[in-house]
Amino acid sequence: MSEHCPECGALWRDGVTCADHFHQMLFWENEDSANWAVHHLTVLCYHLQHPSLYAPDGLEHATGLLIKFVDEGVDPRVLRVQMRDEVDSGKRQFKITATADAHDAYAHPVTWTMTTTDVVAGGIDRYIELVNAWARSMLADLRASGNL
Ligand SMILES: [Zn+2]
Repeated sequence: MSEHCPECGALWRDGVTCADHFHQMLFWENEDSANWAVHHLTVLCYHLQHPSLYAPDGLEHATGLLIKFVDEGVDPRVLRVQMRDEVDSGKRQFKITATADAHDAYAHPVTWTMTTTDVVAGGIDRYIELVNAWARSMLADLRASGNL
């Protein structure tokens, strides 16, 4: 029996969920250290396609990060330093973790071109290539849906 993810619409074959796919990806990053290069994109993309994981003001910050990584080519290590400065100076305004009665959602429904299912289907050998394609497709999908 197959069902679809209520958040991103991915097909869950044989009860294998998006969370299972996400854990598979993290496993591949541990298996081959070269795959760590896209870890920041994997975590960001997984959460962006499951927006209920974000507190109400978390999604806007996260889509901003996607633009920085994909469009501006910002190195995540550089960004981490910048973010640490913001946190240290007490400028951080947003909460990252959602609660049952306070979580985020997109203003407009999004049809995702790629999901966790597509990334995992490529296997460990195409992991970096497909995570990069996933991130680019997500930015395009967010723009096409009017959310950005
Ligand atoms: Zn999903």
